[in-house]
Amino acid sequence: MIRKGNDLERPIKSRKSVFRSGPPRRLARKWRHSLQGTFALLVTLILWAATIEPPSAAQQPRQDFLAADVDTTVSPGEDFFQYANGEWFKRNPIPENRGKWGIGNLASEDIAAQLRRISEVAAAKKAPRGSIEQLVGDFWFTGMDSTTANKQGLAPVQPDLDRIDQIRSIRDLIDVVAIFHNREQFNGGPWSRVLFFGHVEQDEKNSDRWIYSLLQSGTSMGSSESYSSTDPRSVKIQVAFREYLFKTFLRLQHDSGKARASADAVYDIEAQLAKAFDHGYGYEKIGLDELSRLAPTIDWNRYLQQIGIAKIDSVNMRSRRFYVALDSLLRTVPLENWKDYLRFWLIKLNSPYLDDEALDDFRAYDSAYTGAAGLPPRWRMIIQHEKRWLGQPLARLFEKEYFPADEKARYQAMAETIRDAFRNRIAHLDWMSDATKQNALLKLAHLKLSIGFPEKWTDFSAMPLRRDSYVLNEIRASKWFHDQEIKRLNAAVDRTEVDLIPDISDAEYDWSNNEMRLRPGAVMAVPGLRNDQLDDAFVYGSTPLGHEISHAFDSEGRHYDAYGNKVDWWTAADSAAFLVRAQVLIDEYNEFMPLDGLHVNGQASLAENMADLVGVRITLDAFKKTEQFKKNERVGGFTPLQRFFLAYAYGFMTQERTELLAGMLKGGSYAPERERVNGVLMNIPEFYEAFNVKPGDRMYRPESARVKIW
Ligand SMILES: [Zn+2]
Repeated sequence: MIRKGNDLERPIKSRKSVFRSGPPRRLARKWRHSLQGTFALLVTLILWAATIEPPSAAQQPRQDFLAADVDTTVSPGEDFFQYANGEWFKRNPIPENRGKWGIGNLASEDIAAQLRRISEVAAAKKAPRGSIEQLVGDFWFTGMDSTTANKQGLAPVQPDLDRIDQIRSIRDLIDVVAIFHNREQFNGGPWSRVLFFGHVEQDEKNSDRWIYSLLQSGTSMGSSESYSSTDPRSVKIQVAFREYLFKTFLRLQHDSGKARASADAVYDIEAQLAKAFDHGYGYEKIGLDELSRLAPTIDWNRYLQQIGIAKIDSVNMRSRRFYVALDSLLRTVPLENWKDYLRFWLIKLNSPYLDDEALDDFRAYDSAYTGAAGLPPRWRMIIQHEKRWLGQPLARLFEKEYFPADEKARYQAMAETIRDAFRNRIAHLDWMSDATKQNALLKLAHLKLSIGFPEKWTDFSAMPLRRDSYVLNEIRASKWFHDQEIKRLNAAVDRTEVDLIPDISDAEYDWSNNEMRLRPGAVMAVPGLRNDQLDDAFVYGSTPLGHEISHAFDSEGRHYDAYGNKVDWWTAADSAAFLVRAQVLIDEYNEFMPLDGLHVNGQASLAENMADLVGVRITLDAFKKTEQFKKNERVGGFTPLQRFFLAYAYGFMTQERTELLAGMLKGGSYAPERERVNGVLMNIPEFYEAFNVKPGDRMYRPESARVKIW
């Protein structure tokens, strides 16, 4: 899933991989689809509560949890996904207001409920200032205190509105932009910042260094087409955006004529900025003197100093075209219009944290995008905000409470066994030269396997949270984040550093760090059972460890070396041999047609399909070393090998509506869940053996047609 912090965020455009909620500092790949965006917010707790009953201690021994989901009316060789999960699907229909529903939704609701408990305990404690409990407690307290937020209205941001009023020149304007940029805020997509977007990221040409990059931004709706397209869906969103602008200015100016004029002016500014967008991912290291020639209207030295950057001689210009156009707009658009632009952005950025009116106005616009109506319970939204601003403190409390050391040790040991299995596979590959094998083995040896959270945490104690105002807490937290980011600039990359916004509930592979991370919440849980009640077949089959490890060597990960640099370590012949094998997998997925006339996009989903396939192979190799496999005793009527495959299908137990499925099929980087299960298993010899799959079965493929890469 994706680093999904701010629930009101909507990704504008992701680059290569799925990104998490903050602007990405590193390139990473995730295991599951994200529930990113407002959509995630609308997972209502009511539905969760209605679906899962807390287990009672006095429960009778019940049917084995894997056997309980099996639909015996379906043959495993016909459609294994349906066979393994069919009964669960019958018991858990998709709720009416959702596009899809599955085990991942239940898991994320479970985690949200746990985070709520953690927050409530922290808020009741009144812990010492600077402690993680104080931070979580104060944030939670102000977040839940909607009465105060409504009483305060826009008062907490009045000082910012006053500053905007006092702007007399472009220089003043950029000074206020710098104040905004001192806060790492976004609402409507992590890339969506006031006027333009600068941030510190790992240098893709030298992963040991940080670099300050300048990107295109400044628009609420993303690219140029969003402002100009005339198809009904785009028009609906444009109308909603204009209405949102109007309502915001009406609130500020109390005059509908003026408000309409301000709304139009801001819409035009954004449309002009969007027109200058290009693909936006250029890499061009330029000196400050050249930057000043390129966009001379901004005093870059002054600006950089104001955002805390004292010493810098070059930047990474990612979108030259945008900055040239921005400079010209700054010179031609009337200053009063720019002031309106800043007023609107001030309210928009802070709307999830302000009063109900600000939130409702934003939500009305946002729902034009998502089609979702209504709001989730307030606490559920606060949890999303907490994950964004207090990711580490929350993760620390979560791990302490819900990921005991013995459980962590279990997954650590398992990850190492899987690494061994992969090593063995590489050593015995018949299509790869020794030279490339040595490089692959080096990369595998350097691959960092992070389970849970590292022990070294960032010190959050200086984040000045209080119990006075929710929006002020958000502004303080965002300033703290900005300072952390800038501090990095003149330091070497610390590879042991924990992500400031760790995703509690996902696993990922980080290309730049050559690191696999399995967070506590990504460990597949079974409602009502403790981890030590889960057999190895289930744990090996359902945990995406092998999947993430494989990402280091998939169609994209293979371009990075042992140290996370984009360096080609393949011989030309080995690269060619790899591509031939990859093509068979592309062809296989291209053939799948989940909906009439709509095929899976084998090319777009290649990296994930490959990680799924290789992940199952190496995890199965590792599972064969366990006592459970060797003893070969049946549990719940199934052999260990059968349970391993059932568990793999359990991890993907999700069903979606046709509309959503159609959307996923159009170039999505993840194949639908059914294909992620069936498409992989039809290549695994042990699967044929375990379920007696025979020629004539739908899932049967002759040996010569099965995909084998690693
Ligand atoms: Zn993945």
